[in-house]
Formats: sequence, structure tokens, C-alpha cells
Amino acid sequence: MTQGIEGKVVLVTGGGSGIGRAIALTFAREGSAVVVSDVSGEGGNETVRLIMQNGGEAIFIQCDVSKAVEVQGMIQKIIKTFGQLDYAVNNAGIAGIHKYVADYPEDIWNKVLNINLTGVWLCMKHEISQMLSQGGGAIVNIASIAGFAAQRGASPYIASKHGVIGLTKAAALEYAKTGIRVNAVCPGITATPLIENARSEVPSEINKIFSGETIPMGRIALPEEIAGAVIWLCSNAASFVTGHALVVDGGMIAE
Ligand code: NAD
Repeated sequence: MTQGIEGKVVLVTGGGSGIGRAIALTFAREGSAVVVSDVSGEGGNETVRLIMQNGGEAIFIQCDVSKAVEVQGMIQKIIKTFGQLDYAVNNAGIAGIHKYVADYPEDIWNKVLNINLTGVWLCMKHEISQMLSQGGGAIVNIASIAGFAAQRGASPYIASKHGVIGLTKAAALEYAKTGIRVNAVCPGITATPLIENARSEVPSEINKIFSGETIPMGRIALPEEIAGAVIWLCSNAASFVTGHALVVDGGMIAE
């Protein structure tokens, strides 16, 4: 068991697929009650079913993180159901399409920024208000190695993930004395539907990265390997860690 995770209430946005699902399942195994949130009812309900099948506790709340009213309603429902929110993992995100800056369509630019960056801020806004009233909590935002280094053809994704790291540091400073810790996990390439769907669209040199060939450890990550870092950042073992962006990428940005 990881220190301090048992008996807690955790929210995972985008918990209906990939990394979010692995995070939700890992928290449930460690004894937390899990709020699985997603814009997709099908994926979110399936994650809840998987948790309950293993004897864990979970509920599903449908929410589009880019809609302020829905985010506020989600946090209210969590408090009505569980009375508290100990940890929040702001994971929901989309990739956008592969186009260079001058050709990028404005509607897709806005969509990526609204979900990946404004969505994280909206969630934090309401999570932090609740955590302040309880006297503490821990937040982990899922950024990316795209928050440190750029890649061609993904400008809004790169900008949003750089933004998430900045936002994480800003909030960590503002609430450092309140018992709320705010950190980010920055996954490298991870085996999820997001990467599978993007593969058909991107040029061969990016597909080489997606296959793991060029990654120092010689493979891409499993979603459970990202979940491990998230759990650690929430746990008592990380009690003095705030404002940190933890890279989990098999050595990719060390090169
Ligand atoms: P995924 O596509 O498998 O899952 C993303 C989930 O987010 C889906 O269930 C989807 O329905 C949900 N979602 C999308 N838009 C939403 C919205 N507006 N509101 C609420 N939920 C919404 O993707 P994944 O690979 O598991 O990605 C999860 C996070 O990890 C994302 O923030 C992504 O940018 C980040 N990430 C992924 C990788 C990777 O290689 N897979 C690498 C670095 C960072």
C-alpha cells in the first residue's frame, strides 16, 4: 500500500480511457474512492465497472472539462456524495491534428487549448476552493514531455502542455502555505488510444518515435507506469514536493 492513499477520495478527469483509466484503477486498488469523470459516458462507465469488479469503490460523473458550468456541477456532486475531495488528477486531454502553424485551423486550435489548458484551470479553480475549505489536498496535472520540448505539426498541443506546467507552478506557489500541493506528471509516449489514433495522421519520423524505436529505453510507456508517478505525488512520501513537473519518458528528453 502507498502511504496515505487508503480511504481518500480522488477525482480523475478523462478517466474513461488510457492513462486516466490506469490512474483510476491504481487509486482504487490502493483503497481510494474514485470519481471517474469523462466527456464519454461509455468509457467512464466502463472504468467504474472495472473498479467495482475488483471490489473497489467508484462513481462516474459525466463532464466536459472545457465547460465551466459542468466542472462546477461535477465538484458539487463529488462533495454531495463523499463530503470531501482529497486528490484531483486533471488528465483529460486531446491531441489535435497534424498541421503546421500557418495552416492550423482556428477552431481546432481553440478546442485543444480549451480542453488541455483552460479545462485544467477550470478544474483547479473548483478543486482548490474545496481543498481550501477542507484544509488541504493534492493536485496532479497531466502535462507531457511536449511541455518541455516541441515537435513539428502540433503547436496547440505543445503550447497547451507548456501552459499546464506553468499553471502548475503558479498554483503551487499561491497555495504552498495552505496544505495544498500542486504538481505535474509529464508522460513520454504511452500506449493509449490517443497515440494509436494519431499514428495514422503523422509523418513517418514521428511514427518512429511513437513505435518506441528512438526512445532510450527502447519502448513506449504502459499507462500503469504513468499512474505510479501520479500516486507517488499524491502520497505522503511526496509531502514536501510541490510545483514539480515529473518526467516519465524512458529517457527521451534526456537525449
Ligand atoms: P485517451 O484519448 O486514451 O484518453 C483521454 C480521455 O479524455 C478520453 O476518455 C476522452 O473521452 C477524455 N476527454 C477528451 N476530451 C474531454 C473533455 N473535453 N472533457 C472530459 N474528458 C475528455 O488519451 P491518453 O493518452 O490517455 O491521454 C491522457 C492525458 O495524457 C492527456 O492529457 C494527454 O495529453 C496526456 N499525454 C498522453 C501521452 C501519450 O503518449 N498517450 C503522452 C503525454 C501526455
